[in-house]
Amino acid sequence: MSDVPSAPETAVPDGEREAAVCPHCGRPFVTERQRALHVGERHDATPAERRAYEDAREDESDELFRLHLKVVFAVGLLYAASVVAGVVAFSLPG
Ligand SMILES: [Zn+2]
Repeated sequence: MSDVPSAPETAVPDGEREAAVCPHCGRPFVTERQRALHVGERHDATPAERRAYEDAREDESDELFRLHLKVVFAVGLLYAASVVAGVVAFSLPG
């Protein structure tokens, strides 16, 4: 039994062109980075493909880190705004 899920069926609509195609199984991808990740995880990658896979993983990790920073900043801003709104609301005479 394999723990790798089977590849989903993919098709490129007429009039559009795939940006990258897996050289091992022919699966189309929207970006080169997606192809590099696919080749590195699903196939026996050549050394060049392995380097592309590691670069793509690093790029993805950096992008995820930036997303986490944005989320932390947004949550902090929301918290600060709610504290200020609470202070203003409870200090109003009434
Ligand atoms: Zn493939």
